[in-house]
Amino acid sequence: MNEKVYFIKMTDNQDDAVIYQKVEQIIKEKDLLSFIKAKDMVAVKTHFGEVNTKGYVRPQFFKALGNLLKAKNALPFLTETSTLYRGTRSNAVDHMQHAYAHGFTFENTGLPIIMADGLLGDEEIEVEIPGKHYKKVAIASLFGRIQAAVMVSHFTGHVLTGFGAALKNMGMGCSSRKGKLIQHSTAQPAIKIKVCTGCGECIQWCPANAISMVDDKSRIDSKKCIGCGECLAVCRFDAVVYNWGATYDDVQQKVVEHAMGVAAACKGKILYINFLNRITKDCDCMQNKYEKIVPDVGVLVSFDPVAIDAASIDLVEQKLGGKLSKVAFNVPSRGQIDHARKLGFGNPDYELIDVG
Ligand code: SF4
Ligand code: SF4
Repeated sequence: MNEKVYFIKMTDNQDDAVIYQKVEQIIKEKDLLSFIKAKDMVAVKTHFGEVNTKGYVRPQFFKALGNLLKAKNALPFLTETSTLYRGTRSNAVDHMQHAYAHGFTFENTGLPIIMADGLLGDEEIEVEIPGKHYKKVAIASLFGRIQAAVMVSHFTGHVLTGFGAALKNMGMGCSSRKGKLIQHSTAQPAIKIKVCTGCGECIQWCPANAISMVDDKSRIDSKKCIGCGECLAVCRFDAVVYNWGATYDDVQQKVVEHAMGVAAACKGKILYINFLNRITKDCDCMQNKYEKIVPDVGVLVSFDPVAIDAASIDLVEQKLGGKLSKVAFNVPSRGQIDHARKLGFGNPDYELIDVG
């Protein structure tokens, strides 16, 4: 049976407030929070956006969503995890201050922020899964304590996974530091010495201190490199190259297996909401110049992370009239969906229900 995915269409650059109101209305009309019980602790997982990014879902939406959850007498809160790379989101204190600076204050959302992986990103639980790469995965400990979750994801291109949406938000975004590290562990970049300008940007972003400057050119220590791909994404001069053929499959599969762990920890009590607007080549972790690569598509809502992501990439490519890889990174976009299908995780076959 095909999995239902509700589709709220939007016109390009449509006002956020109008869209948020429509999503709220559909959640109410379709009774999509009926799985929430009184006193349930409900984690609302999202991405607060890196410095200078503009694509993330705005705080106003979370106020409306939080009110719907509170109407169920639940105890909702916003949650996130620390990043691997250095910057404003690599520990709980910096990350929360960053979230407040982006407007995710209690005043604006009515929701407290509770970091899922603790002060330093190392509070984790191990969850058993029937994966190809793993039999157990390390995810943020909070997901083992809650009764339900709502995954609010912003669709973007991605340097390793082709695109990032619900599976990526869950697999990478809900993992502990150890879980994130292990997902990145197979990709290995190299520097094109003739092209490198020695600007040093990659050194600033490398989470593993694997890059140094030698004779005004960056150099990667392959023993320290964890394959996170940050250097590739931040280099404006295309001086970083990857052997994609050997890596993207693995990363995409590992993301899916960590998402499986999160779904198992939450006992499947998760509602997924994907925003397909302000779509950029890079994910919301990157500080690169904001540049929209696809006209806005709409918002999807489903109980299945694989169905919603399959519908998301289909709708984005329909809007583009071609492959996402033509305007984003040259990385296949179906690896996450295909691996989920092989593992029997979720359902990539969906029924799109146009709700206007
Ligand atoms: S960001 Fe690119 S150009 Fe700058 S130092 Fe690193 S590899 Fe070289
Ligand atoms: S992929 Fe690049 S940024 Fe990431 S650890 Fe390796 S050298 Fe550092």
